[in-house]
Amino acid sequence: MTETLRFVLGDQLTRSLSALSDLDPEADIVLMVEVGDETSYVRHHPQKIALILSAMRHFAEELREKGVTVDYVKLDDTDNTHSFSDELARAVKRHKPKRIVATEPGEWRVWEMMRDWESDLDLPVEIRADDRFYCSRDDFAKLVDDNKTGRMEYFYREMRRRTGLLMEEGEPAGGAWNFDEDNRKSLPKGLETPHRMRFRPDAITEEVLELVAARFDNHFGDLEGFGWAVTREEALRALRHFLKDCLPTFGDYQDAMKTGEDYLFHGLISPYLNIGLLTAHEVCEKAAQAYADGEAPLNAVEGFVRQILGWREFVRGIYWTEMPDYVESNFLNAKRDLPAMYWGAETDMRCMSECIGATRRNAYAHHIQRLMVTGNFALLAGVEPRQIEQWYLEVYADAFEWVELPNVHGMVMHADGGRLGSKPYAASGSYINRMSDYCKTCDYSLKQKTGKEACPFNYLYWNFLIENEDKLGDNHRMGLIYGSLRKKSEAEREEITRSAKAFLDGGDWP
Ligand SMILES: Cc1cc2nc3c(=O)[nH]c(=O)nc-3n(C[C@H](O)[C@H](O)[C@H](O)COP(=O)(O)OP(=O)(O)OC[C@H]3O[C@@H](n4cnc5c(N)ncnc54)[C@H](O)[C@@H]3O)c2cc1C
Ligand code: SF4
Repeated sequence: MTETLRFVLGDQLTRSLSALSDLDPEADIVLMVEVGDETSYVRHHPQKIALILSAMRHFAEELREKGVTVDYVKLDDTDNTHSFSDELARAVKRHKPKRIVATEPGEWRVWEMMRDWESDLDLPVEIRADDRFYCSRDDFAKLVDDNKTGRMEYFYREMRRRTGLLMEEGEPAGGAWNFDEDNRKSLPKGLETPHRMRFRPDAITEEVLELVAARFDNHFGDLEGFGWAVTREEALRALRHFLKDCLPTFGDYQDAMKTGEDYLFHGLISPYLNIGLLTAHEVCEKAAQAYADGEAPLNAVEGFVRQILGWREFVRGIYWTEMPDYVESNFLNAKRDLPAMYWGAETDMRCMSECIGATRRNAYAHHIQRLMVTGNFALLAGVEPRQIEQWYLEVYADAFEWVELPNVHGMVMHADGGRLGSKPYAASGSYINRMSDYCKTCDYSLKQKTGKEACPFNYLYWNFLIENEDKLGDNHRMGLIYGSLRKKSEAEREEITRSAKAFLDGGDWP
């Protein structure tokens, strides 16, 4: 009889996972399952499915090499029921364990499922905290009670103090908590970007690629050129490459965008962090060490650590303290359908076609492309939150609901009424022009503010402010911009509204 059945999910591929911490290879069995419910609950980008399945199969192999018995159910196994709960029930029948141990899942949907296991299976089920995060779900809830999570910035400072990361004698290194002012440069002409590390598929990955090509070829996204790391060893190589070749310049050009440059100086590590090939602790500590060793400047290292210790932990905390109601809010009452260009329909907007094209090719776009181009457009156009949330969940290799949802629902769409960010990140075309070279080759005119030839971001921006004046007009962080709107004449406002209507609904052009 098996002592313990240890259930490991596809985003828990970490050898030090809490569910495996006291694993006894002589008496225990690790269960891993590829189920249709997970590959198909949204139409994931094929590269995302291939990454997760290949990384799962490699992880199982690594455990087996260490003498662990792994019961692994593949997607195309004939008896596969394609549900976590049913596969667990089948495995219980096969192995007759005395108890089940798992680590809490990343998503509410799976958490709800897990909570029924003990009564459904009539067996002790221990669900352990996921200690791969700096801030546990309980800890975050306590910080909420202590009023320390109102804004990411205060939470982040608290986390810096607690971890001692980039702290010197109790004070932030360099005498400031952030160096954002240094991190908003546009790319200078002629600056070379590093050649990014890609990984050649081995036999396991090739088999997965064939499976994915056969089953999911109608999902948005290219599978060719798949080059993600699928083992811990490869992910560590990718991290070393980032630390050495990209981190020193990461801060300066963190917000920059350039035609044909899909990655710039970004980490490309979110998929590895999110499925467990890398841990947040090791990534932050290595970046801080690069600063201590004089290999990367403070503005870069602090900017990078803030994304992980600050934003990543903060959005997870928001997700778990606000769900399940979080997803229901629609503060701005946005109702429009997601435009077809998000699925690759042709558009003359250069910025949108660049960002969506990169997404299709790579299952990746960097933060500013997600926030200030595709996100900004959805916000200004008033796309229904559920539709744009689903898009982000489908198209990125790193997309898991706990991190995707607060970023889209809160940061981009302001649908939570300001729980995550104090104001929407709305911007007109001039922001995109400042941070990229997209506008230079765009068919639309950035200078024109309304009319058929004008950059749509220009009139959509003002139209958004007009349409949401009752909800945002009193927001003290938007005082200046509403001041400018109020100086516009009635005729100007009408022209803006007519242009927005013509563009979005196909009305007459002014
Ligand atoms: C609309 C929108 C949707 C997003 N959806 C996801 C998602 O589904 N999954 C995901 O991991 N990230 C998401 N992000 C955050 C961020 O865009 C990605 O983490 C980042 O682009 C990943 O690329 P990178 O590893 O090159 O990041 P880098 O720019 O190198 O940043 C380093 C790391 O910081 C973390 N990070 C940075 N920003 C955030 C953030 N806002 N929230 C959480 N972690 C952050 C990531 O782990 C990332 O790997 C989203 C952001 C926006 C605006
Ligand atoms: S002009 Fe407007 S639509 Fe064209 S690339 Fe610039 S911001 Fe995008």
